[in-house]
Amino acid sequence: MSENGLKTIILPTSLTVRELAEITESSPIQVIKVLMANGVMANINQQIDFDTAAVVASELGFEASLQVYEEEETIAETGTIPLWRQMISDESPSDLKPRPPVVTILGHVDHGKTTLLDAIRQANVAEGEAGGITQHIGAYQVEHKNATITFLDTPGHAAFTAMRSRGAQGADIVILVVAADDGVMPQTKEAIAHAKAAQVPIIVALNKMDRPDANPDFTKNQLAEAGLVPDDWDGDTMIVPLSAKKKEGIDDLLEAILLTSEGMEILANPNGSTIGTIIEAEVDRAKGVMATLLVQNGTVSMGDTVVSGTSYGRIKAMFDYKGNPLKKAGPSTPIQIMGLNEVPHAGELFQVVKNSKAALVIVDERLNDAKEKRSNAKKATLEELFSRVQAGEEQELRMIVKADVQGSLEPIVNSLNDLSTGDITINILHAETGNISENDIMLAAASKAIVVGFNVTSDSAARKMAETEGVSVRLYNIIYRLTEDVEKAMKGMLEPEYVDKVIGKANVLAVFKVSKQGSIAGCRVVSGELRRNAKARVIRNDQVVYENEVASLKHEKEDVREVRTGFECGIGIKNYADFQVGDQIECYVKQLSTDG
Ligand code: GDP
Repeated sequence: MSENGLKTIILPTSLTVRELAEITESSPIQVIKVLMANGVMANINQQIDFDTAAVVASELGFEASLQVYEEEETIAETGTIPLWRQMISDESPSDLKPRPPVVTILGHVDHGKTTLLDAIRQANVAEGEAGGITQHIGAYQVEHKNATITFLDTPGHAAFTAMRSRGAQGADIVILVVAADDGVMPQTKEAIAHAKAAQVPIIVALNKMDRPDANPDFTKNQLAEAGLVPDDWDGDTMIVPLSAKKKEGIDDLLEAILLTSEGMEILANPNGSTIGTIIEAEVDRAKGVMATLLVQNGTVSMGDTVVSGTSYGRIKAMFDYKGNPLKKAGPSTPIQIMGLNEVPHAGELFQVVKNSKAALVIVDERLNDAKEKRSNAKKATLEELFSRVQAGEEQELRMIVKADVQGSLEPIVNSLNDLSTGDITINILHAETGNISENDIMLAAASKAIVVGFNVTSDSAARKMAETEGVSVRLYNIIYRLTEDVEKAMKGMLEPEYVDKVIGKANVLAVFKVSKQGSIAGCRVVSGELRRNAKARVIRNDQVVYENEVASLKHEKEDVREVRTGFECGIGIKNYADFQVGDQIECYVKQLSTDG
């Protein structure tokens, strides 16, 4: 609880409307309404920044503070087990053999990633190779002191993030390139966060040491602040000074990679189930789909059937990173293959299966899953509809209609349908006789509809659910009132401009604590009326100290819908427990600015 009586919550730098609703225990519609009142039109899945979220939170009774990652462990702890470790978790330990480390290079733009990758490739791959590598397949291998290292040659976060977001984890070690003349920059920090989240160790390549303005100590300081404490400062991050441009320090970097990998037990079973990650893929006009694969467990052989996502096929031709034909490729080997029927996604996993029949079973399953996802996504967009209706962007008002008898249901449905205009249509999802039930509310919540009842009531379970789900339920006993209100609502959708209209004022005479979360103000209504389904603000010394929805309204222990001037009542305001004797309570409703 903060000093001003608001509950404290911690929010990230940005979050969706839905997430904010969950954190503040409100309905998304409530959040959208507050946003609207503050001039922000947002739908349920829209990202809002911390400042906006904090304003909404305070109106919902919370004081928001920004989430800070102080401990470097925070990110690491939330990370997953590196994928390759998961891949080999089913293998018997005695079958596991060391494999070359797979390295990826990250860093801020212009800090020298491409130059470094080229320097490593030229210095080590080209040796003894007439002409060196002419092709570029997104990965290559180098030999250093009789050990092999695989480099993913797709620098930049996009590739790395794509891999992570698809659950794949290609790299065992990240080389973070930091220019010594520029220091730690935003993308450097991002790269650190990515690597930590993926639980991949980082080696820093302190590049551009040849530049006169290189300032290694300053950069090391910044790195230490970002959670990478140099090993020569008693930390555990290896920092290798080098110049990619002058090709100086490259061997030291390779040495550091081998040292790091030795401590990591980078293993795979060359005879186990064959699985890996797609590094790159494209269509070649002459050769068809060409895909670069990184084998991570097992061995890929010519003629194997590969499946990745919904792409599959028998390997018709297979090459190493130099473009030489290859028959077999074991763990950590980058290969280029021909034979897939469609272009697979970079970052997606692949597996080798027995034959095309087995591949088709997997592909069919995935196609079905994708179809299901698409129809779910459609549902989700339906969910947004109501907020868009409210924001004037959507042209349909969905309703669920309940009435006491068939004889009144039909004319209601007919007159509602007659209200459809060219701009907005009324869509009655469900019309039935009987009281409003939890099922009706569930349907309304799922399709963002409103529920209207004629000469019926809603049971208490349904009312509770309506409140938690943010479903609006309106009860009527005169048909024209019902249609009049709907017509008004439609106007509201056309002109979603609401103003606060004060409907009553009361003075607080006594305060009763009823629970940890709430207290009740015993009041006398001095003007207008207090209403149960309205909002209220607490005014102290002419200052509004809090405002939110009326949570409860009682007159002589009875729950009531309204209390008029001159009467006493007990009022509770949502999430508020700090009433003081002498406060004034102002009850208000939001209404269209065009209404009287
Ligand atoms: P990337 O955006 O991280 O891939 O950076 P590049 O490799 O494209 O390099 C950006 C610029 O920095 C280029 O002009 C390079 O020539 C230059 N550069 C890269 N490494 C070094 C270095 O070690 N020393 C100097 N002086 N310049 C470098």
